[in-house]
Amino acid sequence: MAGERPFDVVIVGAGPAGLALGTLLRPQRRVLVLERRARPATAPPIGESLPGAAAVLLQRLELLATFQDAGHRERGAAVSVWDGDSPVWRDAIRDPAGPGWYLDRRGFEQMLRRRALDAGVTLREGCKQADLRHRQGQWHLDTALGPFRAPVLVDATGRSGHLGRQLGLRRRADDPLLCLYSFLNQGILDQGFLDQAPESQDRTMRIQADAHGWWYTVPLPQGQRVLAYHMDGDDPLCRRLLRRPEAFLARARDHALLAEVLEGLAPARIRGRPAGTSLLEVEQLTKAGPGFLAIGDALLAFDPLASQGLFHALASATSAAKAIESGLHQSLGAYQQEMRAVTQRYLWHLKASYQGPRRFGQAAFWQRRQ
Ligand SMILES: Cc1cc2nc3c(=O)[nH]c(=O)nc-3n(C[C@H](O)[C@H](O)[C@H](O)COP(=O)(O)OP(=O)(O)OC[C@H]3O[C@@H](n4cnc5c(N)ncnc54)[C@H](O)[C@@H]3O)c2cc1C
Repeated sequence: MAGERPFDVVIVGAGPAGLALGTLLRPQRRVLVLERRARPATAPPIGESLPGAAAVLLQRLELLATFQDAGHRERGAAVSVWDGDSPVWRDAIRDPAGPGWYLDRRGFEQMLRRRALDAGVTLREGCKQADLRHRQGQWHLDTALGPFRAPVLVDATGRSGHLGRQLGLRRRADDPLLCLYSFLNQGILDQGFLDQAPESQDRTMRIQADAHGWWYTVPLPQGQRVLAYHMDGDDPLCRRLLRRPEAFLARARDHALLAEVLEGLAPARIRGRPAGTSLLEVEQLTKAGPGFLAIGDALLAFDPLASQGLFHALASATSAAKAIESGLHQSLGAYQQEMRAVTQRYLWHLKASYQGPRRFGQAAFWQRRQ
């Protein structure tokens, strides 16, 4: 293609996984990251719980000090009403990697973006579509922003796995789990004014199973709280709650574990996001063509029950960087083996977790998963 700009690696998708990989590959390699969005999304992003083990990965990105100064909230204990009717506590102090954080997710992504740009990554935003061809050891991308080429192409497009699909790879994505969520303010909406109440001291992660699915709530930085209900997208209740924030909150407050921390919160807009496991079998990677990789959600999108998506985005980027640095021809097998092990371990734990609430065994949501 005339006028093609050459790179060593082209990464499609500027989420946490793509930005982390780009940063790790610089300064040795010429890296292009292509992003579909022209500017950051206006809807507040969901996914805020980061385990303490991520500190090592942030250190590799030379971001730990910046991250620690950014005002993310330290996680407290996790308390769940799951297998039985009584709350079960798991204290954060028992995690050898440290308690982890509740993120200001937008701030977290801005930090990764700034780091990638400082490292010298070429970031081109507003690139909605790329025509792809593999020829003579190179991937050729024809885009509205110009033609590019590189021997290595990485799918970091998130749970859609857009690039892999475009190259004909099959995904396993048959779980209809939908996450309904709302960001709530610590205050009450009174005649158009939001009276800010003092920031809640509660730091617990609360998880509650019921007949239609499971709830999750955690406090966020700046006095916000997120409340999420994970249920099947084809459950008629789901559509009803999506349109009625008051009913959504009232239903959460039926559970004592949640009611304790939802007192006085203003009803807010409810949003919905697909949240079921979606994965590319690692064997598929070689079918796309030589020099192709998938990382983050594009490889394995976790059920939010695992709270592992961001960790996996950074960890798979770290492993992919190692594989690319030592020559993808020789190292692809090792990357596949590592990611296969991650997938198998995750699927085993997920199945075991959904076996827990046997008291709802007759309900469609749980039958589907047990
Ligand atoms: C309801 C819900 C709750 C969650 N909660 C948590 C949590 O508590 N903790 C946690 O760790 N994780 C959580 N996650 C998961 C976490 O958000 C993801 O795992 C993480 O964002 C994955 O990062 P990524 O970079 O792989 O993908 P993404 O963050 O999805 O980024 C993909 C990027 O690619 C871009 N893109 C897509 N298609 C194209 C294209 N064709 N061309 C160019 N660019 C493209 C997108 O615009 C985006 O910028 C949750 C997810 C959901 C759905």
